[in-house]
Amino acid sequence: MKAALFYGPHDFRVEEVEKPGAGDYGVVVRVRACGICGSDLHFYERGGAKVKPGTIMGHEFSGDVTEVGKFVKDIKVGDRVAAASLIVCQECYWCKSGHFSRCQNLQMGGFDFNGAYAEYAPVPLAVLDQTVFKIPDGLSYEAAAIIEPLGVGAYVAGRAGPSAGDIVIIFGAGMIGLASLAAIKAIGVSQIIVSEMSKKRCQAALAIGADVIIDAGSENVLQRVGQITGGRGVDIAIECVGLRRPFLQAMQVLRIDGKLMQVGVFDTAFEFNPVTITGKNLHVIGCLGGDYLTAMELLKSGKVDASKFITHEYPLIDINEAFNKQLDSSESIKVIVKP
Ligand SMILES: [Zn+2]
Ligand SMILES: [Zn+2]
Repeated sequence: MKAALFYGPHDFRVEEVEKPGAGDYGVVVRVRACGICGSDLHFYERGGAKVKPGTIMGHEFSGDVTEVGKFVKDIKVGDRVAAASLIVCQECYWCKSGHFSRCQNLQMGGFDFNGAYAEYAPVPLAVLDQTVFKIPDGLSYEAAAIIEPLGVGAYVAGRAGPSAGDIVIIFGAGMIGLASLAAIKAIGVSQIIVSEMSKKRCQAALAIGADVIIDAGSENVLQRVGQITGGRGVDIAIECVGLRRPFLQAMQVLRIDGKLMQVGVFDTAFEFNPVTITGKNLHVIGCLGGDYLTAMELLKSGKVDASKFITHEYPLIDINEAFNKQLDSSESIKVIVKP
């Protein structure tokens, strides 16, 4: 089969490699669509020891099941599925309590073993509604490929637990910020503000249902939020950038007893004075997780339209170009590779 192998920063090469097998507990998927994730981009830009040269990356994928292991239940050849490819130990505390994604010995497809920038991808542990999700009729492979990032948004929204009268601000309208926006919108709140620098992403946020857009490059975020909330502050701030400035702004614009949902991942450490957390009785809530079933439901019900997230599609052979496009936040939101 054809696969894109990662050799280092800006260096994918499409080569002929052996097709993966299902094993006793897994399935093989003929990949139809695989989204480029922020974590993939990180390695594409900088490399790093975690991904060995020759790895097939890609973990946000969908396609058709072509092979099923003998101990797999409820999944058959020909099923249209989206998958979260993981290997877990099934022995640790988290596995035993059903939280596979928190396994202490977790291995992730596309990093620790081969992923889906390839014609075929393995899902070594295939458990329906845990690692394999059936795609409802009428939903495209491309749409189903966004259930991982949309699942993060659904998870954030569920964890934030907004009330109908709440005012919510989201910092950063990349894929995860927009997914959070869509999931919060589906629950319903009084007002959603999005603060973002890229014009393209501001437009996407409006299309997905933001009520107010703040151009973080040219506008004074604190002042604008002050005007909108009558000085009270927002009820929930969702930080999806992972930079010092929006993090500090999020704490500043929150009301007393407000919730800071920390979704963005910080690359570098910085100093800040936590006195605001105490002074305002803030709830600081970390968010790492995904709610795939809710994401699939949001797509199936039409409450979320995947086409508003997917800006570009490329064949496997053009994968370097696809990654360069994903790197350009002035143009792209979600780029899909179609092996
Ligand atoms: Zn991802
Ligand atoms: Zn485990």
